[in-house]
Amino acid sequence: MNNTVTDTGAPFYLALDFGGTKHAAALIEMGSPDPIVRRVAAGSQSDRVRDLQAMDGLIQELRAHANPTAIGVSFGGPVDYQTGIVRLSHHVPQWENFSLADYLAATYRLPAVVDNDANVAALGEHRFGAGRGMEAMLYVTVSTGVGGGLVLGGEIWRGFRSMAGEIGHTVVDPHGPRCLCGKHGCVERLASGPYMVHDAMVRLEQNPDSGKVLRQLLAGNERPLDGALLSEAAAMGDELARTLFRRSAAALGTGIGNAVNLLDLPLVVVGGGVSKSGDLWWETLRETVDSVLLPEIHAKVEQAELGDVAPLWGAAVLASLRFHPDQSQPAS
Ligand SMILES: [Zn+2]
Repeated sequence: MNNTVTDTGAPFYLALDFGGTKHAAALIEMGSPDPIVRRVAAGSQSDRVRDLQAMDGLIQELRAHANPTAIGVSFGGPVDYQTGIVRLSHHVPQWENFSLADYLAATYRLPAVVDNDANVAALGEHRFGAGRGMEAMLYVTVSTGVGGGLVLGGEIWRGFRSMAGEIGHTVVDPHGPRCLCGKHGCVERLASGPYMVHDAMVRLEQNPDSGKVLRQLLAGNERPLDGALLSEAAAMGDELARTLFRRSAAALGTGIGNAVNLLDLPLVVVGGGVSKSGDLWWETLRETVDSVLLPEIHAKVEQAELGDVAPLWGAAVLASLRFHPDQSQPAS
C-alpha cells in the first residue's frame, strides 16, 4: 500500500470501519486508487471506550499524512442515519444509543456521518466495485450475520427507520429453526456461518453415521469446527457439509429472489466470508434465485469485488454524499 498523498484538490475523507474482529481507518482521496489504510484487532473483551481508543490511535496516525475534510463511518450494528446515533453494537457492549456522529465531530472537529456496515459496503461496491454504473442494486453480505443494503437511483434507500435492506431477517421457511431475532426460518438463521457450524455440530451429535469426512478432519481435536473446516469438508465431498451449504445458498437465494421480484432489480452483489464457499454454494444460490424470479425479471447475481475494504470506500462515499454532494460523482 502506498503511503504518499498526492494533492489533486479533491477532498480527503477519513473513513472509519468499526467491525467485529477488527477496526480499520483510511484516508481516502476520491478518485485516487491508493488509500492509506490502518487496521487494529478489536479486543475480545472490548467495550465502547476501548473501541474508540483503538480507533483514535489509527486516526492520529492517518492525520499525520493529510488533513481530511469530513469523517464517514461504517458501524457493525443498527444506526439511525439521520442523527448518527448508534442503536447498539452486534459485537461490543456499551454502544447502546451512543451519538457517534456528535462524538466524532466534537473530538476531531470534523463533520461526521454514520451508517450501518451493510449500507456502507453497498455504497462502496456500487461506486467502486461490482455495482459500478448501475442505477439500482441489492448488496448482501453473508458472514457471521446476513446484512443488506439497497441502492435505488444511485443512493441508499434506508426506509423510514433506517432499517431497509435487512434481508437477513426476512423469513424464507416459516417452519424452520428459530432465529436469534425470535422468528423462524430467517435467511440469517439458515445461511450465516455460525448457524451452519452450530447445525453441523448438532447433526454430528444426533446422527453417528453423518459427516464422515468432517469427523475425520475433526479427529484429534487439532482444529475447531468452524466455517473454514466446514467449507473444506464440503469441498472433499462430505454430505453433511454439502447439505448445509446447499441449504444456506437456497435460503439466501429465496430471500434474494423475493427481493428482486418485489423491486425488479437488475443486480445483486453478494459478499462476506460465506460467499467464498465455492462452486456448490454459488451454483445453488444462482439456481434458486432463477427458480424464484418471475419470467419477466432478469437479475445478475455477482460476487462482491472489494472485500474488506468495501466499508472504507463506502464510508468515503457516504461522507462525500453528505458533505460534498456536488463533488461526489465518481472520478473516471
Ligand atoms: Zn431472524
